Amino acid sequence: MHFQVPSSTTVHRGFHMSGFSRPIIVVSKCLGFAHCRYDGEMISGTVVESIKPFVDFIDICPECGIGLGVPRDPIIIALDSKKRLIQSSTGTDLTQRMELFADSCLEGIGDLDGFILKSKSPSCGIGTTKVYPDAWSDECLSSQENGIFADAVIRKYPHFPMVDEEQLADPFARDHFLTVVFILSSFREASSSVSMHSMIEYHARNKLLLMAYDKQHMTLMGNIVANREGLPPWVVCERYMELLLQVISKPPETGSTINALLHAFGYLSRYLDVQEKFLFLQKLHAYRENSYVLFELKEQLLSWSLQFKVDYISRQTFLCPYPQEIACRDQNGNSR
Ligand code: SF4
Repeated sequence: MHFQVPSSTTVHRGFHMSGFSRPIIVVSKCLGFAHCRYDGEMISGTVVESIKPFVDFIDICPECGIGLGVPRDPIIIALDSKKRLIQSSTGTDLTQRMELFADSCLEGIGDLDGFILKSKSPSCGIGTTKVYPDAWSDECLSSQENGIFADAVIRKYPHFPMVDEEQLADPFARDHFLTVVFILSSFREASSSVSMHSMIEYHARNKLLLMAYDKQHMTLMGNIVANREGLPPWVVCERYMELLLQVISKPPETGSTINALLHAFGYLSRYLDVQEKFLFLQKLHAYRENSYVLFELKEQLLSWSLQFKVDYISRQTFLCPYPQEIACRDQNGNSR
């Protein structure tokens, strides 16, 4: 795989043979890659650490990228006629430098599957950054803005998954993010051969997952790979990708997830005795009250599909969308 990466960034390739394709994730450099925060610190011990062996990270520090040193005087966002990035101690306006850096940096990155950015930063924050009326106020106007670099990311990649390290600490936000970056990464792999066979195979493996996200879109995507119009494969890939990004833009709802679970269960129920069926359906009912049960239901279905060699189900990404090693686990070692 070839990366075109600007010189102010570094590519970190993890090493782990998991059988999953490797997502490419752009990450804020201070999240475990360098002591580049304004105070010379680095944020350690986040989820980023645990997924390093399974993904390729491209780390970026936009503030270092525009030439600020470490340590440095803090910068803030002040709201003039537009958001401005200001170094309060000197009054220097860094907005244009940051906007130019962000555009050229993102232009040079190439393939990617998602972003993990540092929360609350005037450069990297996504919906968590404070904005002040001017560079000297203590009272902020809002604490729900984007940083200036994050604004450029959202403009260029509006439908790509992006989270911060605090959202990743939530098991469900983390599950959704990991699911979609691994889906996008395996789509990149499938579409790189630009062959209809790999696209059809990709859609078959992801059918239940897409059903859980949005059944109508799943059907439309099935029609695209069926390619009854005989379009060139690259056109099919583009159309498919467009819908894929729409489908994964928000987490699946409980009702559609239950439909996908029941669909998988339908393939397996003939191998199960009455008690096994009863316990599964009871647990499925409990899922409506307690979302954590979902992880157990998927594990049960995967286990049965392997035991009874129902390949169509055991190969579904829905049951195991990313390596088990990075699934959230509780103190008993159960997936969470
Ligand atoms: S939040 Fe962004 S700009 Fe600030 S230190 Fe981290 S990577 Fe650099």
